[in-house]
Amino acid sequence: MPSLKGPPELKHLDHVLVTPLAIKRRIAGLGEQLNADYAKKDLMVIAIVNGALIFTADLLRQMRSPLRLDCLRASSYHDGTKAVGEPRIVDSMKLDVRGHNVLLVDDILDTGKTLAAVAGMIKDKGALSVKTCVLLDKKARRAVPFEADYVGFEIPNEFVVGYGLDFNERYRNLPCIGVLKPKYYAGLV
Ligand code: 5GP
Ligand code: MG
Ligand code: MG
Repeated sequence: MPSLKGPPELKHLDHVLVTPLAIKRRIAGLGEQLNADYAKKDLMVIAIVNGALIFTADLLRQMRSPLRLDCLRASSYHDGTKAVGEPRIVDSMKLDVRGHNVLLVDDILDTGKTLAAVAGMIKDKGALSVKTCVLLDKKARRAVPFEADYVGFEIPNEFVVGYGLDFNERYRNLPCIGVLKPKYYAGLV
């Protein structure tokens, strides 16, 4: 375990998969790519919250093209580490995506059901283009054919927390991506 600065819950981690420095560097790289790809386009960024909150905040500050930001909420993990049923999309967007280039930002691409559903909904609303950007990709878990256009890191099939990702709404403020010790997932503490 690298010694990291952060909240006391860092001690709940069994291991770290992505360090704060690696996240920072990768986001700088993603920002460059997005700046190049959207240099001459009017961009509408839609963050899928709560998970994508911290990633989106850091990513947007790397972007130089004019953009607007909105959020929508989707949930499939009502609590715990097992997805329950189909993702629920709570469409609370203020912006009208019709005729706009949309970039959907999420924390992690897992089964693919959430992003497939949200991307479909945004297309149905008449967006000009829909691209997706995720910090993490768990390819082994895909249940529907879906690939993101921009990916931070591919990670193994483990339930991760930190940097926006929660377990029962906790651990979002950890500065790294990591895996909890089994006793914390089991709710024994
Ligand atoms: P999908 O619909 O692709 O299966 O799931 C996407 C959503 O499930 C993500 O936006 C995220 O909220 C949640 N999720 C999937 N895998 C993980 C994980 O390893 N850790 C956490 N905290 N959430 C996950
Ligand atoms: Mg999510
Ligand atoms: Mg969650």
